[in-house]
Amino acid sequence: VSTVKIGLIPADGIGREVIPAARRVLESLNSGPKFEFVDLDAGFELFQKTGTSLPQETIDTLKNECHGALFGAVSSPSHKVAGYSSPIVALRKHLDLYANVRPVKSVNSPAFPNQKLLDMLIIRENTECLYIKSEREEVDANGLRIAWADRKISEYASQRIGKMAFNMALTREKLRSEVPLAKRFWKHNPRVTIVHKSNVLSITDGLWRETVRGVKQKNAELYKGVDMEEQLVDSMVYRMFREPEAFDVVVAPNLYGDIISDGAAALVGSLGVVPSANVGDDFVMGEPVHGSAPDIAGKGIANPIASIRSAGMLLEHMGYTSQALKVYDAVDAVLADASILTPDLGGNSSTNDVTEAVLKNLT
Ligand code: NAD
Ligand code: MN
Repeated sequence: VSTVKIGLIPADGIGREVIPAARRVLESLNSGPKFEFVDLDAGFELFQKTGTSLPQETIDTLKNECHGALFGAVSSPSHKVAGYSSPIVALRKHLDLYANVRPVKSVNSPAFPNQKLLDMLIIRENTECLYIKSEREEVDANGLRIAWADRKISEYASQRIGKMAFNMALTREKLRSEVPLAKRFWKHNPRVTIVHKSNVLSITDGLWRETVRGVKQKNAELYKGVDMEEQLVDSMVYRMFREPEAFDVVVAPNLYGDIISDGAAALVGSLGVVPSANVGDDFVMGEPVHGSAPDIAGKGIANPIASIRSAGMLLEHMGYTSQALKVYDAVDAVLADASILTPDLGGNSSTNDVTEAVLKNLT
């Protein structure tokens, strides 16, 4: 059995409650790799104590020793704090994690009566667009301020994220083939939806659209089973709320992807169940979509499901597919049963109760 070393970075708030839950699930798998865990520091609380939010040791250990990582959440203040910058943004950059992959999946459960049944995967470009933070200010002839921001779209980044989207469409199709038909929400060919606004931004979004389309055209044989469609970002939001079941893989530039994926989380009950993975060519970092939830931190009631599913994504992206499916299935069983849920889903169980229930369903 091979040994896989995972860096654990719980960081702030409920990160310190949900990451240990995810670790217990990984430790309880009875097949697959043997895990070795290494605890690593980062976060705003660390910054307040030591003046740094991301120690060099954390970066070095991840780069030199780890195969993957799990990140909890960080309490970034809304006001500017001198010397502070977000460790999660820095980590994505240091490890070249160029894709933020966010599956949004509903579960048929009495806990969510009128829920639409969806199973989509949003792939958000993680390195450029407006998030290069190239901003400046000037003053006009009347003394009024004008603020500017640059937006970067490169053929290089668009191409590699496009490839990831088409590859993930194929991978998902393979995963689905192992799930009983009755439990599959997606019953069409695998499909990639390219989100853009090139009717207005013809140069930047035009390059994005053309490049991602080109990925399929240049690899016609490989991706011939994958349908390709496009959606302007505004009508994407409309369609996603009207008929979320119409989407399989959705690929978007950084800003559109950020907005779409937070919106999509609202369709499946709670932020506490939505996982993500920051993916590069040779490193994966699982990370729940939610933040540090200061309002419930320390109470033992944070929903661990987003983190447990993020651990599943870590397995999936490291190639341990059958173990990943076991984790996903165990979570789905707990949600479908609906008798053991944390308060964010209307239950009154604790983080520990839900974790135990998932462990009991791990086969
Ligand atoms: P949040 O996600 O922390 O919380 C939003 C609401 O959802 C809260 O009511 C919270 O109790 C609830 N919630 C979130 N996760 C939950 C879980 N697992 N179980 C049960 N309920 C859950 O977002 P916020 O309140 O806007 O931000 C709080 C802090 O988190 C801020 O400092 C923000 O900067 C940070 N944040 C960090 C990340 C990240 O680390 N990637 C992401 C978003 C926000
Ligand atoms: Mn966001």
